[in-house]
Amino acid sequence: MSFERLFGSEYALSIVVQKFGGTSVADATKIRNAAARAVAVHREGHQVVLVVSARGKKTDELVGLAAEITDTPPAREMDVLLSTGEQETIALASMAIQSLGVSAMSFTGGQLGITTDGSHSKARIRSIDTGRIQAALEAGQIVVAAGFQGYDEHGNITTLGRGGSDLTATALAAVLRADVCEIFTDVEGVYTTDPRVVAEARKIEKIAYEEMLELASLGAGVMHSRSIEFAKKYHVPIRVRPALGEGEGTLITALDDQTAPVVTGVALVKSESRVTLLDLPDRPGVMDQIFTQMEERKIPIDMVVQDVGSGGVAEVSFSVPEAELAETLTAAERAVEVLGQGRVVSGTNLSKVSVVGIGMSRHTGVAALMFRTLADAGINIGIVTTSEIKISVLVDRDRSVDAVRAIHKAFALHEEITAEPAVGVRREVGSASIAADAETEDATVRGLAGMEDIVVSEVRLDDLQSRVTFSNVPDRPGVLADLFEAVAEGAVVVDMIVQNVSQQGRANVSFTVLRSDLDRCLLLGREVSETWPNCELSFEKEIAKISVTGIGLRTHTSVGRVMFRALAEQGANISLINTSEVRFSAVVAGDAGKPAVEKVAAAFGLKAR
Ligand code: ASP
Ligand code: MG
Repeated sequence: MSFERLFGSEYALSIVVQKFGGTSVADATKIRNAAARAVAVHREGHQVVLVVSARGKKTDELVGLAAEITDTPPAREMDVLLSTGEQETIALASMAIQSLGVSAMSFTGGQLGITTDGSHSKARIRSIDTGRIQAALEAGQIVVAAGFQGYDEHGNITTLGRGGSDLTATALAAVLRADVCEIFTDVEGVYTTDPRVVAEARKIEKIAYEEMLELASLGAGVMHSRSIEFAKKYHVPIRVRPALGEGEGTLITALDDQTAPVVTGVALVKSESRVTLLDLPDRPGVMDQIFTQMEERKIPIDMVVQDVGSGGVAEVSFSVPEAELAETLTAAERAVEVLGQGRVVSGTNLSKVSVVGIGMSRHTGVAALMFRTLADAGINIGIVTTSEIKISVLVDRDRSVDAVRAIHKAFALHEEITAEPAVGVRREVGSASIAADAETEDATVRGLAGMEDIVVSEVRLDDLQSRVTFSNVPDRPGVLADLFEAVAEGAVVVDMIVQNVSQQGRANVSFTVLRSDLDRCLLLGREVSETWPNCELSFEKEIAKISVTGIGLRTHTSVGRVMFRALAEQGANISLINTSEVRFSAVVAGDAGKPAVEKVAAAFGLKAR
């Protein structure tokens, strides 16, 4: 195949890991197809590891069978049972390869040398002893590996959690330093948005790891988030491609944020509701209390926004899946009770619409275009939250599909990306503390254990920004668009945007900008806001933004609590908060930044470097 694949590494043959999911090995024909694809790559001169899942709905069937025997299947036996699904496929796939005239050997998780901890059904990989795999590869065999399984220190069979074959594939690719990890599936690749929602959705050629993680909701059907994080950390390029057909699929890799498209995709999460806590005391510890209540009930909250307090009271909103609303309201009421002040309101029939793109952190006007597009479609924006590479808004559910279509069109996502993005501005960020990167194969293997435990991988301080707040902004379509267009015209790069839900028809909007852009931003912002009666403009020049980055922050409900407790213990009052799938950011006073970031890093067991 490609030159790099053949001659990419100087001394060793290149290694290709291929993974076929359940639907792509469902029957004998499909298994033969998978075998043929592995053989084709092998014949090009590569060493091949073929990772397979259980056939079709096999795992579900096994779960069902166990349920017919008992309501409380012992965890150990459940893993013995579930692992048979993959064991069946490896034997069949190995036979298929051998019948094509290439030598192959099947390996269960234990035979692959994958050791895990002992938590059955959600085990985490501890290490991989590649000796046996490497010997087979060097002997010219295709290694047929069972996905989704390993064994613990006592030799018990364990499984890695549903969808875990992706994890086996990326972990093997990481330790073997494979040139690529190909994930074969029943879709053509990753799309700019759900093609069932927008007919013009286009398959994306290349997408950055970070984008894929932020698009968890778009990518969920395609790939397991933790596998992407693995691949990112160990620089494994992933190609998601169709099992049937010759499509090249989508490459998930590290991309340069300066040349990447500004917006890569639009995601829709349909069934959201909103919870708002009003009239809260404006003091340290309030967020800690709220997150503690949520963590106790394992409620996955998202789009958390807290705006600057005014008149001694603060307000926080977040979204939760509609199914969790009742439980969330109980938790919120309890938080208010403990805090001794506040009240809880909620909104239903909402959806979350997000645009994602790593190029947006260096460009102006993305928020303005998104808001203008929604305004032109007459769609009102509920809460707004952002990360460096994502802007999310909450809108009425009955307009959510219109919103996605309009935004997809406005950013011309249906077209091949050719045009240069509008305005380019470089922005700098403050110092970082990052978990160490593995350099050698040994370190990679050792690193796996730690890797599986990592939820939070980075805690960062950005102390080069200022905060700008517009209070009493009218709550109607077009207001945010006017504001952000004016600011974008002055080439001001906007970072965090926070809009909480409106009260009595008025809303507050806060955002952060580079300190060097502050004066220009105020000038431009004032011109627009003067046309809004009673709107007040305020700012804080010296702020510090602390962000925590990781994966699955929404479902790891302890992350928010740990972060906000550390800030509370530091006595740091938080003026702004926003969150995304992979990042929690909080703004505190400028001089509180350094000690606060150290405290937060320590709380996650990371060292500031
Ligand atoms: N067979 C397992 C499951 O269905 C693992 C996988 O398919 O990735 O969850
Ligand atoms: Mg699967």
